[in-house]
Amino acid sequence: MPQLFTIFGNPVTHSKSPLMHNYSFKGLGYDGCYTRYKLEDGTALRNKFFDLNITGANITVPHKEEAFKACDELDPFAQKVGAVNTIVKKEGKLYGYNTDAPGFLKAISEFKSAKNVLFLGAGGTAQSTSVILRDAGYNVTLLNRSKARLERFKEDGFTTYTFDTFEKKCEYDLIVNMTSAGLEDENLPCPKNILERVVPNAMACIDVIYGKETPFLKFATQHKKPTKDGSDMLLYQGIIAFEYFTNHQFSFDEIKPHMIKAFR
Ligand code: NDP
Repeated sequence: MPQLFTIFGNPVTHSKSPLMHNYSFKGLGYDGCYTRYKLEDGTALRNKFFDLNITGANITVPHKEEAFKACDELDPFAQKVGAVNTIVKKEGKLYGYNTDAPGFLKAISEFKSAKNVLFLGAGGTAQSTSVILRDAGYNVTLLNRSKARLERFKEDGFTTYTFDTFEKKCEYDLIVNMTSAGLEDENLPCPKNILERVVPNAMACIDVIYGKETPFLKFATQHKKPTKDGSDMLLYQGIIAFEYFTNHQFSFDEIKPHMIKAFR
């Protein structure tokens, strides 16, 4: 019997995860099968996990915080950020991890001399990635549309601004769109006049949205800045999740050539 895996989310129809993981199982000769499961009620996640008799799962929007609550044991980083996107069942217990943040950290590692990072957005993804970047030595500043979402970042010691209070106190090496602006609309993540102040001196502009050129990345290209979308983040979070799913039987570099086929 193959081991079963799934992605829980709502919606899940467009998720690339089944393709990414099934290419990797096949390519590495691992007896696994990965499906997708539309989960409407996040509080049902734990029972569903056991009912389906699966070995592991990824969790996407909007259930990462419920996934955190569903676990018996948490990896220290997942514990710190309060969001889980990968669960593995071992001896009847659910172990939770966050692979989004290390995936993002790896995705920006090509910008070797980057130090100051400006996040546009302060949602769940910004929460985990800001912490891992700070732990890795970056200075992260957050700029967000609403004030409310910035509170927890402020309490955690980050410099935060709303569009009205923004002050440019340094040059930002990387500007990152951490919002969903541009995902299903043609919005910029912040007012254009702010982008005009920060983009010209940036080393690169990065978007966590993948599979399309967002208005933010178009703006960056018009200003002749290198750009990067969210595909590497997605790929790398998947590879790290696959390492957990298969109990580290395969290295990152062994998994990558198989999983990357889902992006061609
Ligand atoms: P959340 O819902 O937690 O947060 C959304 C954020 O976007 C908030 O800061 C919100 O600001 C802001 N926002 C939404 N619309 C606009 C707008 N029109 N203008 C300005 N700000 C806006 O989302 P997540 O953190 O879960 O996801 C953020 C993005 O990350 C999504 O696009 C998602 O697809 C992507 N993602 C990519 C991954 C990858 O592997 N590449 C992995 C995970 C997520 P406000 O507080 O004002 O509402």
